[in-house]
Amino acid sequence: MIQALRGTRDILPEEIGYWQLIEDTVREILGRAVYQEIRAPIFEQTALFERGIGEATDVVGKEMYTFNSKGGNKSITLRPEGTAGVVRAYIENKLHAQGGVQRLWYTGPMFRYERPQAGRQRQFHQVGLELLGCAAPRGDAEVIALAIDILQALGLKDLKLDINSVGNQEDRTKYRQVLVDYLEPYKNDLDEDSKDRLTRSPLRILDSKDTKTQEIAQNAPKIIDSLSPESKKHFDIVLQLLTDLNIEYQINHCLVRGLDYYTHTAFEIKSNDLGAQATVCGGGRYDGLVKELGGPETQAVGWAIGMERLVILLQKLSSNPINTPDLYLVSRGEAAEAQSLLLAQQLRQTGLAVELDLSGSAFGKQFKRGNRSGAVACLVLGDAEAENNTVNLKWLASGEQQAIAQKDLLAMTEELKTKIIKLKGFD
Ligand code: ATP
Ligand code: MG
Repeated sequence: MIQALRGTRDILPEEIGYWQLIEDTVREILGRAVYQEIRAPIFEQTALFERGIGEATDVVGKEMYTFNSKGGNKSITLRPEGTAGVVRAYIENKLHAQGGVQRLWYTGPMFRYERPQAGRQRQFHQVGLELLGCAAPRGDAEVIALAIDILQALGLKDLKLDINSVGNQEDRTKYRQVLVDYLEPYKNDLDEDSKDRLTRSPLRILDSKDTKTQEIAQNAPKIIDSLSPESKKHFDIVLQLLTDLNIEYQINHCLVRGLDYYTHTAFEIKSNDLGAQATVCGGGRYDGLVKELGGPETQAVGWAIGMERLVILLQKLSSNPINTPDLYLVSRGEAAEAQSLLLAQQLRQTGLAVELDLSGSAFGKQFKRGNRSGAVACLVLGDAEAENNTVNLKWLASGEQQAIAQKDLLAMTEELKTKIIKLKGFD
């Protein structure tokens, strides 16, 4: 049998309710802040990610799914993240020409060649947001507040916001030297990747997952102390705005993004309920990226939430939001079965969720399935009902039932809905 590839998985109907809940919540909360959805292609020219994420990163260096086009003259990559594609689309479609800020969000699958484990896959999904054309600290605070809003609306409580500033390009150049001077004497104690980064991308050593390296990094000079007064001011205002918004944070001096076009704010939102793969959301400011990719100088800030990790959290937290019918339609006999499909369609058109039993099996078996379906009532159509154009309405909790003309049933659907909402226990 052919099986799904390692690091990929099927999202089955039993789990889909969580995904739809996340998608609905994102759409609603970002819609209220007037962010617009954008859908960029899933594959792009490899060069976009090499320039847009950076060749020194793990993502580009080790994790990309890259192949040649059929023609053989173009290198293509399955997107490992969303920002590069959105920024390319922003430039290519001249969204900047509309002036002012662009508020965009996206969702979809991303691809990284990683070692699969809980919360870490090769095909995974993100929802992300980009605020383009805004240099103000209020932009940073707005996007962070929206990420928190989404996570809280989904019921997550034990969240931790880590934040840092990597300043502007000059600040970082200055800090890079300070950091290398500090790390040089510890060179032999660093993990292999970090040794390598000492010359290529030293800031990313701070972010190492190796415990020994982390210990060394903990005592490193802090980037905040290398910030220019303007950069420091930007960061202080962001922090003040978060306080005003009642959002708690911890400054994490080791939280960095190593590349030149990442500027100022970097942040991560973690959950204590996730174990090793604790980060649900990562983001920050990238004032240099649009220009790097050939667009006009455009300041920007954004984030991405990992949906698989969010689903794991929701599964621990809340009951499964599954799609259950309001009514379950049972029928048997040629005429009854024909009428039942028509009746199901008519009821569905009024807004009721109707599951039609298609088995043609004995009434008893159909009732059993009706009871398990989550419906609050069964509609029963047999030979006698079909003959008279009636239907039997049976409320499952009370067992109460009544025979009713099909046209009368269709005339009382508003009443039915009110009763169903009450019985399902929400409004
Ligand atoms: P990590 O340190 O966990 O590898 P990252 O820094 O590579 O994360 P980002 O590129 O910032 O992650 O992506 C944002 C979010 O996307 C992460 O916080 C995480 O929730 C999710 N994510 C990243 N990689 C994966 C993956 N392979 N499988 C599932 N989710 C992922
Ligand atoms: Mg990663």
